[in-house]
Amino acid sequence: MTALPPCPKCNSEYTYEDGDQLVCPECAHEWKAGEKADGGDDARVIKDSVGNLLQDGDTITVIKDLKVKGSSLVVKVGTKVKNIHLVDGDHDIDCKIDGIGAMKLKSEFVRKV
Ligand SMILES: [Zn+2]
Repeated sequence: MTALPPCPKCNSEYTYEDGDQLVCPECAHEWKAGEKADGGDDARVIKDSVGNLLQDGDTITVIKDLKVKGSSLVVKVGTKVKNIHLVDGDHDIDCKIDGIGAMKLKSEFVRKV
């Protein structure tokens, strides 16, 4: 038996097939197999260290001391960073930090404010 995808609305795993539809018994959501929730699922989902969704323009704080590559500077834990920009890659946050300049951070080391 193939595993059915979880409900796109409530994430319930107890979805079942009804004809060409998938049905969620928990929130009564019905959708067509293969259809994505809310149309278009292309946007990259980047979450902070505690699972908050990050978006361009968000303000975050750094949750651990981070060495700045190629310098002796350290971004101290608690540093507030405004107006982040999400990018692709290992370091998925592009930002500008006061006193340091433009740099990239990993979303796992930040927390949304
Ligand atoms: Zn559901």
